[in-house]
Amino acid sequence: MIDAIVFLGIQGSGKGTQAELLAAHIRYQHINIGDLLREQISRKTELGKKVNSTILRGDLVPDDLVFELIRTSLDQDCPGVIFDGFPRNLAQAEYLSKHYRLVRVYYLDLKEEDAIKRIQGRRLCPKCGANYHLLSHPPQKPGICDNCGATLITRADDSPQAIEQRVKAFFAETFALKSFFESKGLLKSLPAEKSITQIHNLVLKDIHKD
Ligand code: AMP
Repeated sequence: MIDAIVFLGIQGSGKGTQAELLAAHIRYQHINIGDLLREQISRKTELGKKVNSTILRGDLVPDDLVFELIRTSLDQDCPGVIFDGFPRNLAQAEYLSKHYRLVRVYYLDLKEEDAIKRIQGRRLCPKCGANYHLLSHPPQKPGICDNCGATLITRADDSPQAIEQRVKAFFAETFALKSFFESKGLLKSLPAEKSITQIHNLVLKDIHKD
């Protein structure tokens, strides 16, 4: 079984950033379901067409499509995988426990109002996929990607209605996973308001403690 580490948290809690940093450090594959789905949408694949309206509404995509996407994206040669944005409900958490050796779940703890503020400041490069934030990680030239010079955009599903719906879905379906993983002794809570480096260092300290 492949080792898995999960970053859990409300949208905007910084789980993607932390997953990326840890993946680079321990050389695990990083899987972000939201990014994979958006890629399918921009490539106009059958799957992309199927999930487009669901994502724009801010609802969850059906579990079987998510499991299939993970199966086809997984690099079998990688020593382990870091998930962010997965699992999002109990059925997905059970799938994960059954198919992977779950090592740790990091819960990035952030208040709902702070999460909403953070999501509203997000900007994305449509060309190279780089992520920015107007407050915490602005591009050098306003509105322009540092890497490739493209004009930055707001994610289509970061509309006020979709943000509201995703936050609702988080509390209705995902938040319960915190106690699910806590009861298995796998959960480590981290204060999401700390800096990116401070949180990364807490993760490294925890990962290397054994
Ligand atoms: P995210 O980028 O993590 O905010 O995800 C964007 C959208 O992709 C979500 O609002 C869902 O529609 C979909 N999505 C991402 N991850 C999952 C998942 N694990 N299960 C179902 N839908 C997901």
